[in-house]
Amino acid sequence: MGGKRIYSFASGQSPLPDELLEAVRADTNRPQTGGLSLPELPFTSEEARAILRGTGAAIRSLLNVPDGYEVLLLQGGAYAQFGILAMNLGDRNRVGAYVQAGHWSRRAADEAQPWIRVHRAAAGNGRQLPLPETWEVPASASYCHYTSNESAEGLQYPELPRDVGAPLVADMTADFLMRPVDVAAHGLIYASSQKNLGIAGLTVVIVSQDLLATCTGPAPAPFDYRCLAREKSKVNTPPLFAISVAGRVCDWLRARGGLAAAEARSRDNAARLYVLIEKDGFYSSPVDPRFRSNVSIRFHLPNRALEAEFLADASAAGFLHLQGHPDVGGMRASLYNLVSLEAVEALAQFMAEFRRRRG
Ligand SMILES: *Cc1c(COP(=O)(O)O)cnc(C)c1O
Repeated sequence: MGGKRIYSFASGQSPLPDELLEAVRADTNRPQTGGLSLPELPFTSEEARAILRGTGAAIRSLLNVPDGYEVLLLQGGAYAQFGILAMNLGDRNRVGAYVQAGHWSRRAADEAQPWIRVHRAAAGNGRQLPLPETWEVPASASYCHYTSNESAEGLQYPELPRDVGAPLVADMTADFLMRPVDVAAHGLIYASSQKNLGIAGLTVVIVSQDLLATCTGPAPAPFDYRCLAREKSKVNTPPLFAISVAGRVCDWLRARGGLAAAEARSRDNAARLYVLIEKDGFYSSPVDPRFRSNVSIRFHLPNRALEAEFLADASAAGFLHLQGHPDVGGMRASLYNLVSLEAVEALAQFMAEFRRRRG
């Protein structure tokens, strides 16, 4: 394309690396059996089956998903999953414990209300995350839901909880496949695809057979976990293109050393911005350093006028979508696992230069 390089730090739909886009283009152009292209494949075709199997297996392998867990591929995004999981695992006599520590985890609890009795296990203050030892999980709880990375507030659990007294259910949308996870410590993990797994349209649900056996329902068949497990995620037409891109993302991650390497890249990327944020008070973060997210880098400037100027200058220089979440204000750079080191370095350089000019 030529011209100036554009870098997106958007919170929803991550930018994709050039080599990944090239692989997707090649997949799209390659004729399949009968001359159809990938986006045209019927889901009953052998190629479609292979794509579904391949992406499921790739996620399994990257995350080291143990036996006794199903990897379900469905639609609707994480927001839909808030209700869908409560529909599957809840009823009016069951209790779901919810850690309500930020924008997304509060929304997850609100959406679950019609399907299960929501118990607030812990609350947040916008600057820290409640540590698992402080969570109040009723002995009767069917599960305990938490959000590993709160993308609005810029908070991330540095270590994931375990043994909280109920099966752990985690919304990992914001940091899925960005670090190794002990899947066996969880009953269910879910994530939508547009942040760390390619393009929007796919939601991954990893669920233990033990938890699956406790499902009550009813849920619409395409969102019914037991039905999805039985039909190998082919209850209705799956989002095949997004599933195919997700498979390419898994290949890309594997070729770069898997999740341990992804975690190292994530820490390194975040550190390049936090070093500026911690330097001298021009840029600042209200978040307790123990819980600062490596994914959602939140920062402020000394006043609103400078923030507006920063956003305008950044955008003119090709650094897009740095506006913070409307609930918390300020700036936010989303550094998902497909954001390049080059993009982060260029942003850090721009921030340093802006401070020299306006600080
Ligand atoms: C972005 C995000 C969501 C919403 O995802 P959708 O796929 O757009 O519904 C939910 N939870 C977390 C933690 C997120 O970061």
